[in-house]
Amino acid sequence: MLVNFISNIMKYSFDPPKVPTVKIFNSEELFPVHRIYCVGKNYAAHAREMGVDPEKETPYFFMKPADAVVTIDSIPYPPRTSNFHYEIELVIAIAKAGVNIPKQDALNHVYGYAVGLDMTRRDLQLASKEGGKPWDTGKGFDYSAPISNIHRVQDVGHFNSGSIRLSVNTEIRQDADLEELIWKNHEIIAELSTYFRLQPGDLIYTGTPAGVGAVQSGDLIQGSIENLDQIEISIT
Ligand code: MN
Repeated sequence: MLVNFISNIMKYSFDPPKVPTVKIFNSEELFPVHRIYCVGKNYAAHAREMGVDPEKETPYFFMKPADAVVTIDSIPYPPRTSNFHYEIELVIAIAKAGVNIPKQDALNHVYGYAVGLDMTRRDLQLASKEGGKPWDTGKGFDYSAPISNIHRVQDVGHFNSGSIRLSVNTEIRQDADLEELIWKNHEIIAELSTYFRLQPGDLIYTGTPAGVGAVQSGDLIQGSIENLDQIEISIT
């Protein structure tokens, strides 16, 4: 009652930002994005190409702002970088809140899956690593999280295997299988929920396989995951 009363008389000082959304395949509804979590070094071959021993380093988490999500087919080459990298990833979309979610219950929290790109200003990320500084400028910038439509579990099931591929200007650059994920989807959800309260609307980018590299203005990135979807993004 009191809340209704206050909301009737109080006004925002300016229009609040729109909730970022992602289209849902085969549905009129939109998926409202709450947070974007990302997993680092979740494929051994990618950990090795980044110069670390996957046996000695376990996966870890970082975040992007929700409004980094991109559902259009082009993104601008970002400022303050000369080494702009693609990373194709399976994305888990969360439907149900939870903390300390048991592994065996984890997949019940999944709404669906999508194909995503964890776009990275690699030069800034590497400088942050070397300086022991936060990754936000390298990872959490505008337009850094392109994503395909989300496909609901009821339509596509769960994803533990299948080809994950990315090409630049039709040349294959990343070509792996989801089987190679170090942490599987249910383990990622269980572990992440020990740090954060997962909420409906959360997206989890699960990590990229080997073959990351730079793109330039004018390049076309095409990515796909078997039995899921594809994504096509041009760099303007
Ligand atoms: Mn990544």
